[in-house]
Amino acid sequence: MCKTINSHFINGAWVQESKPAALYLKNPATGLDNITLMLASHELAETAIQSAHDAIPTWQQYSSNERAEFINNIVIELKKRRTPLIDSIVNELGCPREFTTEVQVDDPIDAFEQHVQWTKDIQHEQVIDENLTIYKEAIGVCSIITPWNYPLHQLIAKVAPALAAGCTMVVKPSEFTPTSALLLTQAIEAANLPKGVFNLVIGSGRDVGPVLTTHPLVKCISFIGSTAVGKHIQSVAAGSVKRVLLELGGKSPYLICPTTQLESAINLGIEDVMANSGQTCVALTRMFIHESQFEQAKQLAKQSASSLSVGDPDTKDTFMGPVINQNQLDNISSAVERAKNEGAEIIYGGNRIDQTGYYYQPTVITNLPHDAQLAQQEIFGPVLVLFKYKTIDEAIQLCNDTPYGLSARVWSDDTEQSKKLARKIDAGQVYINGAFWHNAAPFGGYKESGNGRELGPSAIEEFFEIKSIIV
Ligand code: NAD
Repeated sequence: MCKTINSHFINGAWVQESKPAALYLKNPATGLDNITLMLASHELAETAIQSAHDAIPTWQQYSSNERAEFINNIVIELKKRRTPLIDSIVNELGCPREFTTEVQVDDPIDAFEQHVQWTKDIQHEQVIDENLTIYKEAIGVCSIITPWNYPLHQLIAKVAPALAAGCTMVVKPSEFTPTSALLLTQAIEAANLPKGVFNLVIGSGRDVGPVLTTHPLVKCISFIGSTAVGKHIQSVAAGSVKRVLLELGGKSPYLICPTTQLESAINLGIEDVMANSGQTCVALTRMFIHESQFEQAKQLAKQSASSLSVGDPDTKDTFMGPVINQNQLDNISSAVERAKNEGAEIIYGGNRIDQTGYYYQPTVITNLPHDAQLAQQEIFGPVLVLFKYKTIDEAIQLCNDTPYGLSARVWSDDTEQSKKLARKIDAGQVYINGAFWHNAAPFGGYKESGNGRELGPSAIEEFFEIKSIIV
C-alpha cells in the first residue's frame, strides 16, 4: 500500500510543507508505488537553520555528562523502534531482512550507544601550564546530509558526535529512504532533547541543498554521499569558509597474497561486494590475485557468486535483494555493457534479472585494463573486477591507482606481512584477512574519498573549535 509522508521536525514540533513538491518512490523489490514524499522547500530549511541557531545557548548550558544522558535516552528510544526501523529499510532500500537487522539497525544503535561513554570522556578544558588553557567549544549549527545505502548508520555516524560535542543541527537524509530518519527523530523527540537542537528536513539535494550548504548561520557541513556532490559542496561552502567534512565514494582494493586459504579469501571477497547489492561505499570492488592462483581464483569466484541466493529481501536466506531504483539499475547495466564492449570477460552474471523489481545478477568480471572505467569509477552495484599481478610491489601500486582511498583488505597467511602491506595502501581503513567492521575505528577516506573521520572518540573532535587562552 502506498503511503504519503509530509513530516519535518523543526524547533521540537512536527511540521508539514504547505505547498510541497512530491517525490514518488517505488518499492525496489516489486517496482510498485510505495511512498509519496512531500519534499521540504528551501524556506522550511531556512526556518530549521534558524531554529538550530536559536537553540545553541540552551544546548551549550548542558555539561558533557548531561549530553551523554540525553544520548543514552535516545538509544533507549531507538531500541524500542528496532522493528519498524528494520521494516522501513527492507521496504525502502530492498536490503535483505537478516542483513538489515544486524548491519543496518543493530550495529548503528550499538555505535550510538558507544557515544555515551565517549561523551562523558570529553575534556572541554585543558590546562597546559599557568599561562595557557585550551578550550574545546562546539562549532555551532551543523548541516548533516546523508545518502540512502545505510540510512540509519549514516545518520547516527554524524548526529551522535555532533550532539556529543554540543552542536545543534539540521539533518537532511536521502529523499530515497525517509522513514528511518523519521523514526530516529521520533526517538529524539521522546528523549526530550531541548527544542531546536535537532531539526529534520526531508527534501531533495537540489532544493534544500543550497540553503544547507551556504547559509551564513551554518558553521559545519557534515556530508556523506557521492564524490561529485561532495566536491560541489566543498566549492559552494568555500564562500563562507565553513568546515566541510566529507565521506565520499570508493573503489576499494582487496589484495590477496599467495595463500593456502584461497577459497575462504575469495568467498569473503564475493560476499563483501554483493552484500547490500553492491551499494556499499567500502565494497572491495577490485580484487588482486597473484598470477599463480588466478585461474583457480576465477573458478572459485564463479562458484561463490553462483551460490548466492538473489531475490525477495523479505524471504529468509536471501543474500542479495534488488538495487534501490530503476536509475541505479540502469547505471549498473550500462557500466557493465560498456565493459563488455571493451572486451571484458564475464566470469559470472553481467545481466539484469528478468523479474519485476530492480534486480541485477551478482557479477564477476576480468580481462579489463586497470584504467578502464569499471576499474576506476564507483559503480555502486554488485560488480567485482578481478586483476592478476606478478609482484607484490606491482599489486600495491595498482591498489593505489584510483582517485579513491576509502577502505581496503589484505589477505595473507602471514599477519605481520599483511600489516606491513596495509601501511602502504592509501585508505582510511584496512582490514586483515577475515576481520570485520569495528564501531570504535575511525572511518573516512584518503584522496577523493573525503576528509574528516567519523566514529570513535576522534569523530567528536571534528565538531569542535579550539580556543587557546594565553595569560
Ligand atoms: P548523493 O551524493 O547523490 O546524495 C547524498 C546526499 O546529498 C543526499 O541526501 C542528496 O539529497 C544530497 N544532495 C544531492 N545534491 C546536493 C547538493 N547539491 N547540495 C547538498 N546536498 C545534495 O549520493 P547517494 O546516491 O545518495 O549515495 C551514494 C553515494 O554515497 C556513493 O557515492 C557512496 O560511495 C557514497 N557513500 C559514502 C560513504 C562514506 O562514508 N564514504 C558512505 C555511504 C555512501
